[in-house]
Amino acid sequence: MARARSSSGDRPMAQRIDGRAMARAMLDETAQAVEQLKTQGVTPALAVVLVGSDPASEVYVGRKVAQCARAGIRSLEHRLPAETGQDELLALIDRLNADPAVHGVLIQLPLPRGIDASLVLDRVAPGKDVDGFHPVNVGRLSSGTGGLVPCTPLGIMKLLDSLIDDYRGLDVVVIGKSNIVGKPVAMLLLEREATVTVTHIETRNLPDVARKADVIVAAAGAPHLVRGYWVKEGAVVIDVGITRVTDHDGQTRIVGDCATHELEHARAVTPVPGGVGPMTIACLLANTVKAARDSLHG
Ligand code: NAD
Repeated sequence: MARARSSSGDRPMAQRIDGRAMARAMLDETAQAVEQLKTQGVTPALAVVLVGSDPASEVYVGRKVAQCARAGIRSLEHRLPAETGQDELLALIDRLNADPAVHGVLIQLPLPRGIDASLVLDRVAPGKDVDGFHPVNVGRLSSGTGGLVPCTPLGIMKLLDSLIDDYRGLDVVVIGKSNIVGKPVAMLLLEREATVTVTHIETRNLPDVARKADVIVAAAGAPHLVRGYWVKEGAVVIDVGITRVTDHDGQTRIVGDCATHELEHARAVTPVPGGVGPMTIACLLANTVKAARDSLHG
């Protein structure tokens, strides 16, 4: 692949991977798949459960509902007060699990104190678990036997697939070992025969480890952690981090885990915002369609 050059024409510039454009293309494909399912008598439906009024969660739920509408997916919002008891929430999930017109069930995190999040997430039927957090789906992912895959790791793979055909033997360093990003993306990369190193806050000599990587997936939530000297010439860098910071002038903005301005020697980097974030929602809708399609086959 030809590399872009700086305005002076001498130094190659890292390609910016346009997550917004890729997400739009994916949403168009999802909308077509929805139309196809409708001809078979199935309208994909996503139930979104929000407990309490966390402002960030309100924004995320609003975006998910809006994108569902764009793709022709029916969304069912269940907004419950912060005082909702755990048993009441579990009963709602049971009803959604039993409803054949509901194909995906998403529990917006975080849940209020006093509610055991893992108990709640484990209650969602694995076939409707569009977030891919249920132990059955986690097990399927680690054994490479299908199931619903968490949305952010799925989106990361789609971004990487736009640049990489063959992962066999590539050195990939994942920074962060969370259950929602680091571990599942490592599993997906292992499935493609990459050599994957998962690192975390206690990893020693992280810059040296990262410098060997052909691909870096940074999911630490640590602003500008990955510096230019951490990244080898020609590496691909996926920046998953989202941290809201306040500048000296009081303006807030979102920053990623990578010092992108130092990464012009990379082959490609994802911007923040506009990289992984839009792909996460696009993959949520794709998972809802997959769940609806799978429901047709029993
Ligand atoms: P988490 O807090 O659950 O896990 C963070 C991981 O990073 C941990 O394993 C920790 O050990 C490691 N870590 C933290 N600081 C580190 C450091 N200085 N050096 C090395 N490792 C370090 O976080 P998460 O839920 O996986 O999210 C990670 C980041 O990705 C956050 O900024 C989050 O907002 C963002 N995120 C973005 C999307 C998206 O759609 N773009 C989705 C999920 C998470």
